[in-house]
Amino acid sequence: MADQNLDALTSSAYQQALEVIASVEPRIAEATRQELTDQRGSLKLIASENYASPAVLLTMGTWFSDKYAEGTIGHRFYAGCQNVDTVEALAAEHARELFGAPYAYAQPHSGIDANLVAFWSILAHRVEGPWLQNHDAKNVNDLTDEDWESLRHELGNQRLLGMSLDSGGHLTHGFRPNISGKMFHQQQYGTDPETGLLDYDVVAEKAREFKPLVIVAGYSAYPRRVNFATMREIADEVGATLMVDMAHFAGLVAGKVFTGDEDPVPHAHITTTTTHKSLRGPRGGLVLATEEYAPSVDRGCPMVLGGPLSHIMAAKAVALAEARQESFRGYAQDVADNAKSLAEGFLNRGAELVTGGTDNHIVLLDVSSFGLTGRQAESALLDAGVVTNRNSVPADPNGAWYTSGIRLGTPALTTRGFGHDEFDTVAELIVHVLDNTQPGTTKDGKPSKASYVLADGIADKVKDASAEMLHKHPLYPGLDLG
Ligand code: PLP
Repeated sequence: MADQNLDALTSSAYQQALEVIASVEPRIAEATRQELTDQRGSLKLIASENYASPAVLLTMGTWFSDKYAEGTIGHRFYAGCQNVDTVEALAAEHARELFGAPYAYAQPHSGIDANLVAFWSILAHRVEGPWLQNHDAKNVNDLTDEDWESLRHELGNQRLLGMSLDSGGHLTHGFRPNISGKMFHQQQYGTDPETGLLDYDVVAEKAREFKPLVIVAGYSAYPRRVNFATMREIADEVGATLMVDMAHFAGLVAGKVFTGDEDPVPHAHITTTTTHKSLRGPRGGLVLATEEYAPSVDRGCPMVLGGPLSHIMAAKAVALAEARQESFRGYAQDVADNAKSLAEGFLNRGAELVTGGTDNHIVLLDVSSFGLTGRQAESALLDAGVVTNRNSVPADPNGAWYTSGIRLGTPALTTRGFGHDEFDTVAELIVHVLDNTQPGTTKDGKPSKASYVLADGIADKVKDASAEMLHKHPLYPGLDLG
């Protein structure tokens, strides 16, 4: 937002919007102001977060929110959806053009919803379709109770192979307590215990033994790139559908940092994503698919999803249009370069990183060498104004709640304009906090995995050092709430 006129317009739009909100519920207006102050004043290193542009934010706050539009473009269960059709068609067009995908579905409300749409569309395409053909039925409405029983058995008897949570996969990739681990028989692939890297031979071996219907690739906390051409070869060998969840790294795909074998879209049958992480759009999801899977993906609503959020689809269209601009490529490259700077900053100060570094936007810091759990490190860092999240490391002895890791990501601070030197300083500040944090004890004096003691004066010192950088790279620089 370098344009001063746009800055003034945005400032006055938000000043007036907050006045209108305050006239009904002043505490919400106040919390909204406070959230901006807090975000402006902290080092946001949560790898799944970003700062959407004012254009994207403003697009979300409109009367499109009031419209019901179940169904698909031009084929709705409600009247009066012509403008929603325009919005959804534009979001899908930008997504197809940006990612070079034959088909895009812009309705999913979130990344998890996008994955559910993908799972059901794979089941519908691979299981229900052939089942109906074999039973001479055109659609599920023709089925008897007995047929239903048999189809349900077929649907519920399918296998999924995904990356395990503690190796960096997501809950929805077949983690047993998640619906994906209940609706499918699941097995998980991990990473090499020595290197922390994916071993494609092991994935292939598991796939040959398990013969899954679906192989899920993609991650939430794996700090490396994936070869999706190899994943597709593995899927083809065993007759599986390759689904890639690029929720985390979609911005690096959009910005052409990940190309060739590292671009999932040409290799996967179905690619899902969120729009709010490295892609820097509104909170939401997208599904990209080959022509073959498009008809079953189109059944997402009302099969799996509630009515589409038209105001969010409009904001997706704006964000995707932004991501198609040349400047987004520079941003995406900076995100990856800054992650390398952050990783080097840690390694130069003797800290341990899972896989020994990064080549995407994530750095996974193993805090056990500081004698801390992830929970203790996360809390101490938050006291010092550094916002991170605790995360398991492979074979984590502290489990998924306390963990032994801290996951850090560069998309948000890169949006603010942080570069190599600032990320090196961020590493220095984090190491300084962790060096000065001791594990605490429970009320009855036993060792605790949650409580901690941060040495006096450290939080203020780190906050002062951060303030200098945050001041130099303001968040929404032209936005003045008056
Ligand atoms: N998929 C991956 C790989 C993720 O990392 C996440 C979120 O953290 C999701 C899906 C879920 O996204 P959402 O929170 O929008 O449902």
